[in-house]
Amino acid sequence: MAAKILNGNAISKDLRQEIRQLVESRTSEGLRIPGLAVLLVGNDPASEIYVKHKRRDCEEVGFHSNVQHLSANITQEELEKRVADLNRDTHIDGILVQLPLPAHIDPARVIDRIDPAKDVDGHHPYNIGRLALRRPALRSCTPKGVMLLLEHTGVPIRGLDATVIGASNHVGRPMGLELLLAGCTVTTAHKFSRDTRGAVASADIVVSAVGKPGLIPGQWIKPGAIVIDVGITRDAAGKLHGDVVFDEAAERASWITPVPGGVGPMTRVAMLQNTVTAAERVEH
Ligand code: NAD
Repeated sequence: MAAKILNGNAISKDLRQEIRQLVESRTSEGLRIPGLAVLLVGNDPASEIYVKHKRRDCEEVGFHSNVQHLSANITQEELEKRVADLNRDTHIDGILVQLPLPAHIDPARVIDRIDPAKDVDGHHPYNIGRLALRRPALRSCTPKGVMLLLEHTGVPIRGLDATVIGASNHVGRPMGLELLLAGCTVTTAHKFSRDTRGAVASADIVVSAVGKPGLIPGQWIKPGAIVIDVGITRDAAGKLHGDVVFDEAAERASWITPVPGGVGPMTRVAMLQNTVTAAERVEH
């Protein structure tokens, strides 16, 4: 295997340690510890696992956490009221609404209600707009986690060709904006693209965020490219798969993320960093 592994578990562990030290120094200065609220609606098993991880992360770094597990039957109005209450709660710096929400809830309306200064997922239109205007405030967690991984490679990325596969509001689009902000020449491929292979083959950086195992065969990868696999698909046996055929791609790439243990832990640590940023902004 030629590629070096971007080990998100190890990199995020070091970053969590830094956050823990920051929380400790805040406490010794008499400042409030950062607080994160998570709203989990219904009983989606994957969401329950994600929220469990977030609670554990909060404990590890010393945050105050407020996890609310709400009924799948909650109304749009009740859920928006929970958000409004958390917007006013002075112990809470970050509000996270775990997606997906039940079909009767409009997720965009819920996210719109989050105070942008507490939007630690970075999904609010205000925060996406700030990123688009090159004045990032709270940045979308998964793209921010990917940028942390790229930083870890030590490769100067300004001027490189980057291809993002997937154009969702929460991942693909803000990912393209982050790479553009970093000075890359960005191509976005999506389900209507006619030559995704060509877009991948010319890229120095490939970020795949689709959720289709095997979508990117190793032969598509330009030798020496950095390959970041955001995709996570759980098979019938419970095993997780990325979009990229890892063994093949690792023969050609210079750096590659594993699934699991690549982007996932970086997304979580980016959210913790955003919560610290949100807490610090309250004091200034
Ligand atoms: P989504 O379903 O909202 O978007 C998928 C995107 O893929 C769409 O823009 C679609 O146009 C594109 N697409 C579909 N088929 C395609 C094809 N054949 N070729 C090219 N593009 C195609 O999904 P999402 O919420 O953006 O998540 C994408 C994946 O990333 C999922 O597997 C999800 O589980 C994973 N994810 C991982 C993390 C993490 O922290 N690792 C975070 C968020 C999402």
